[in-house]
Amino acid sequence: AKELGKNTYQFYSVDMNMAHQMSHLNLENALRFALERQQLQLWYQPQFDLMTGQLAGLECLIRWQHPQLGLISPSEFIPIAEENGLIVPIGDWVLNEACQRVQRWRQQGFAVPRIAVNLSVRQFRPDLLLNQVTKALQNSGLPAEVLELEVTESLIMTRINEAVAILHQLKQLGVKVAIDDFGTGYSSLSQLKNLPLDTLKIDRSFIEGIPEQADDVVIAETIVILAKKLGLNVVAEGVETQAQMQILRDMGCACAQGYFYSKPLSALDLEAHLVHSAKQLSGVY
Ligand code: C2E
Ligand code: MG
Ligand code: MG
Ligand code: MG
Repeated sequence: AKELGKNTYQFYSVDMNMAHQMSHLNLENALRFALERQQLQLWYQPQFDLMTGQLAGLECLIRWQHPQLGLISPSEFIPIAEENGLIVPIGDWVLNEACQRVQRWRQQGFAVPRIAVNLSVRQFRPDLLLNQVTKALQNSGLPAEVLELEVTESLIMTRINEAVAILHQLKQLGVKVAIDDFGTGYSSLSQLKNLPLDTLKIDRSFIEGIPEQADDVVIAETIVILAKKLGLNVVAEGVETQAQMQILRDMGCACAQGYFYSKPLSALDLEAHLVHSAKQLSGVY
């Protein structure tokens, strides 16, 4: 504090820093109550089979409906939740909410073949995760093979030995595992071969460059081929244009998600979409 009077520059910089920390603290405190006040919501983004055009699955994406700040995106509060450990109860809520919601839709007759749930590194502990997943499946009645857990490359590769054990245990439960943002981390291909994986998700940064950037086209195609040779499903993320969709389909990419098809939708809007597609299929208008 005795530094403060020395010059105005320092005074202002300390002051601004405090303001920044205050808002971070406020956000952190508010986040502690977000769960119990039911301010957290799951939105759902559909994934489509590029060959048949059918719904291949949904990815659930968390949002925080704050009474004053409005809808807050996960990139703003998930890092805070990871820092202070709130991600563990939040992640548990996400798993349960997603499984229950999708199982209800399935019971209503909507064909939702897969629900993808994002995991954070702090949930990726053997005792915790197996317990959370088992309970979410039991509580909802969702068949294990419908649930796909998305983990990032860096999460797996930084804790490779533990990760291999956890992935094998998940496999025994019957759930699926996808590598999210594939191509942006540092996976060793030989390690990839030994992991019990189901899906590679091509990172949006490569899809963004299609068709203009030749290197991005090559990378996307290489991932599609790699997935095929390893017997894995492949999903392109962030498909925004018809041209991207067609190029990916011609490459043999199995599935795609992105704004070209649909933005993430609230549960209510997604349900309306499911009702509409079901009516179209059965020819009832
Ligand atoms: P992600 O899992 O890679 O999710 C994809 C993100 O890309 C989502 O952002 C989605 O809304 C956005 N996206 C989808 N299609 C397009 C497109 O065509 N163009 C563009 N520009 N963006 C598209 P969102 O919902 O803001 O989520 C950001 C990240 O937050 C997620 O990246 C994921 O890492 C994390 N996240 C979201 N929900 C959860 C959660 O329940 N738990 C954890 N641990 N992390 C979550
Ligand atoms: Mg994801
Ligand atoms: Mg991603
Ligand atoms: Mg590029």
